[in-house]
Amino acid sequence: MRNGMPRTVKRMAGVLAVMALALVGTLRAQFDYRAKVVKIEDLTHDVRRVGLELEKSEGFSFTPGQYVFVNIPEYYVKQWNRKYGTDHAQVLRPYSFASSSSKLPRFDVIIKWARPPRNKDVPPGIASSFVHQHLRVGDVLEITEPTGDLYLRADTGEPIIIVAGGSGAAPFVSLLEYFFEREFDKNNEIYFFFGVRAKRDLFLHDRFLAWDKSKPRFHYIPALSHPRPEDNWEGETGYVQIPLDKRIKGPTGAHAYLAGPPIMIKFVEEVLRSKGITKDRTHYDEIEAR
Ligand SMILES: Cc1cc2nc3c(=O)[nH]c(=O)nc-3n(C[C@H](O)[C@H](O)[C@H](O)COP(=O)(O)OP(=O)(O)OC[C@H]3O[C@@H](n4cnc5c(N)ncnc54)[C@H](O)[C@@H]3O)c2cc1C
Repeated sequence: MRNGMPRTVKRMAGVLAVMALALVGTLRAQFDYRAKVVKIEDLTHDVRRVGLELEKSEGFSFTPGQYVFVNIPEYYVKQWNRKYGTDHAQVLRPYSFASSSSKLPRFDVIIKWARPPRNKDVPPGIASSFVHQHLRVGDVLEITEPTGDLYLRADTGEPIIIVAGGSGAAPFVSLLEYFFEREFDKNNEIYFFFGVRAKRDLFLHDRFLAWDKSKPRFHYIPALSHPRPEDNWEGETGYVQIPLDKRIKGPTGAHAYLAGPPIMIKFVEEVLRSKGITKDRTHYDEIEAR
């Protein structure tokens, strides 16, 4: 429970809020805040970090792990519809905070460019194409107020297990910064499993390695599902649930935090259950695919 509301009710409310926002073809969503782009960095071949600064931060707060909906400007959506023959109305997408809340009114988001699925002749993702091909420093984005159910339960002294797939690692940059600021790693073992295809997809790898080195109770475990020969990879291979199964000894009273595609969540949950980590100790936002 949080804010006195039972978890299932809270989840339903969250899911409904997202569905309502996703259905804004007919409704117009309300954007309460505007944020100026102050920095753009390429973290990998298809992942960008965008630094934003709120124009007005009054009343704006978030818990690391939460996200905002970003509104893609109407002129871009119209251009896109003309180019690809699509019929998008208002386009808004959820993006997780990727920096600690202590940095407000500045914050980061990390956005992966959604390319067309293999063997499908369809356009790339509209919102992520906007960010990767069009967005410039100085532009202003409209955003909603923060929302989401992925937040740290408590500094319990029990292990914290984080499992991320691809861009699912974005909210954990925020959560980890926040954990370390509050020295949760002094009291809790923290395991961070990060699954991607190949080494070139491991964004912020050096930063996670540095944390692993400097913080004795933080364990960074990257896993490559399709390592390339040039990766010279000696670390974990296979989908991320494989090292999870190998490294976590059960039964454990750990809390687990997940973000990634539904198929990853499904297999990771099976491993967590086999370690005695119950559903009420497993946390992620129950909404559509990333
Ligand atoms: C809670 C939450 C938090 C998230 N946080 C992040 C984050 O921090 N970072 C991040 O990168 N993402 C995040 N996401 C995902 C993000 O919201 C978007 O879904 C993602 O960026 C893709 O949006 P898009 O508009 O670029 O792609 P869309 O336009 O929605 O397209 C999605 C995919 O469908 C394909 N496609 C297009 N047309 C068709 C068609 N006709 N048939 C079949 N396929 C088609 C596209 O090529 C693309 O691969 C999050 C999602 C959730 C639910």
